[in-house]
Order: sequence, then structure tokens, then C-alpha cells
Amino acid sequence: DFSNVGFVGLGNMGGFMAKNLLKKGYKLTVFDINKTAIDNVVSAGAKSAQSVAEVSQNSEVIVTMLPMNQHVLDTYTGKDGIISSAKKGTFLVDSSTIDPSVSQTVFKAAQKQGLRFVDGPVSGGVIGAKNGTLTFMVGGSKEDYEASKTFLEGMGSRAVHCGDTGMGQVAKICNNMLLAISMIGVSEALSLGEKLGLDPKILTDIVNTSTGRCWSSEVNNPVPGISPTVPSSNDYAGGFGTSLIAKDLGLAQAAATRAKSPIALGSLSHQIYRTMEAHGLGGKDFSVVYPFIRGENVN
Ligand code: NAD
Repeated sequence: DFSNVGFVGLGNMGGFMAKNLLKKGYKLTVFDINKTAIDNVVSAGAKSAQSVAEVSQNSEVIVTMLPMNQHVLDTYTGKDGIISSAKKGTFLVDSSTIDPSVSQTVFKAAQKQGLRFVDGPVSGGVIGAKNGTLTFMVGGSKEDYEASKTFLEGMGSRAVHCGDTGMGQVAKICNNMLLAISMIGVSEALSLGEKLGLDPKILTDIVNTSTGRCWSSEVNNPVPGISPTVPSSNDYAGGFGTSLIAKDLGLAQAAATRAKSPIALGSLSHQIYRTMEAHGLGGKDFSVVYPFIRGENVN
């Protein structure tokens, strides 16, 4: 039974995800270390808890949407964390983007206490969280995936089973590494063309009907003015922050090091986005790499 839901981590993503569950009729008990984040969801009908343990006592299923590895470890395996306080049989879903090996650690600890756990990172960004159109990449047993599918689709439009525990995270970080690389590639190509005298609009049109076509050229073009509604046409505001993609590349780097899998371009992209962050561009959409490599200032 998934009618009593606990939700921990009510930030940019979690706040909207929790509200969508409320709209679907689930009863929510919520916690965040930030009181304002709790108030935001309580005003939409959730009950607030004073601690993670209080969330556990009231819930049959608990969703967590936290920033990074350490927050997830603390919330699950820390003193008075979810694993020591949840009722036997509670279903746990972590939707944070973290290291797959951390998901595996949490899963093992959960299993020992008779709890069920899947990793379910998401794609679709804050807009997808708001509109309920997220895709969940689920790592866990087939039974646990089947058991959670309808519930997850209450916060999104799709839940895909990627394999065992951690494979949701693997899918997420590999996709984002490719995206990070392709955005730099598109920016270099359009910038080179422009320096050689070719209008980036014409080159984009050629690329998008040729073999260089990808999301970064077609949907989120980094050159201002080509697509009027994307971040590049709005001073690179909104979209997917440079510091968030840099964080995901750090996860890919750590996993690749352990797997002894070479990611020459992934590593290089990581350093490029980190350098952009050091130049104050962390909050801008990652397509800001286009003016950055051209040495142009961004507002
Ligand atoms: P956020 O920083 O806006 O929200 C995180 C929330 O967790 C905050 O409200 C914070 O107060 C809370 N928190 C931190 N430590 C806590 C603790 N110990 N106990 C309780 N609450 C705690 O982050 P976000 O943008 O919502 O992202 C969350 C996760 O989703 C990240 O892993 C991110 O990489 C991933 N993600 C984000 C996006 C996006 O576009 N923002 C898209 C896909 C995936």
C-alpha cells in the first residue's frame, strides 16, 4: 500500500514532485532541513515532520530528493536515519542523482532491515518536475520496479527499469556525460564556422539535417537568437545549471575511475565546466560554454 508517503528533500525538484503526489490524492508527511521548503509543501496539503524518524513512522513509502552522496548516506544510514527508523516492509525510493555505488550501499543496508529500496534518478529538470513529465530511471529488482511503477508515474510520465540497484544512476550519469560533451562539441563547431565567416543559423540548419545533429544543436542551441525560447536567447538564464552538470560529470569521473573505463572527453568536459563555474557561470545554463570559449562576457 502506497497511500501514506514520506518525502525528504523538498528543494527545486522535490517540492514540485511532492505537490504532484498531493494532487494525485496521496497523504504526505514531509521533512527538509530548510523550514521554508517544508512550509511551501505544507501549504499544498502535506503534514510536516520534525525529523526523518517522524517521516518513517508515518509512511509506507518514502521518497528522497537530496543534493549529493553525503546527504543521501546521512539521511538513510545516519543515526535516526530512514533505515533505523522505517517500519519493516517500507518501500524506499531515492531520486537524487548520486554515485551508483552509494545507491548499492544504501540498498544493502535497507535489505538487512527488511526494507525495499530502488534508485530512481530523474531526467526532465525542474520544468519536468513541475509539469509531472519526469522520466524515472529505476535500478532494483523486477518486482520492486513493478511495485513502484504506478506510484512513480504519479510524479512523471515514464518509469524505465534499467537493471539492478545502481543502474538507474548509471543510466543518468552516462546520459549526462554525453550531453555535456555534445554541448561543447556543438559550441566549438558553430563558433569555428562563425569565425570562418559562416552564419551559425545556416550551419545549425545544415547540422540538424546532417550527421552532427543532437539535442544541443537542435533543441537547446547555444548561439543566441537561433531558437528564441531557449536559455542562450535569454542571457543563458534558466535551463540546466553549469554547476549541476559539473556535479554529474564528477560522478561519472569517480565511477569511470573505479571501472577503469577511459572517458577522455568526459574528464575534459568536467574541467571545462568547472572552469566556467570558477568564472562565475555556475548558475547559467550549461550552453553558456559557447560565449565562454569565445572569450565573450555574459551578463
Ligand atoms: P535542491 O538543492 O534545490 O534541493 C535539495 C533539498 O534537500 C533542499 O531543500 C535541502 O534543504 C534538502 N536537504 C539537504 N540535506 C538534507 C537533509 N540531510 N535532510 C533533509 N533535507 C535535506 O536540489 P534539486 O535541484 O532539487 O536537486 C535534487 C537532486 O536531483 C540532485 O541530486 C540533482 O542532481 C538532481 N536533479 C536535479 C535536476 C534539476 O534540474 N534541478 C534535474 C535532475 C536531477
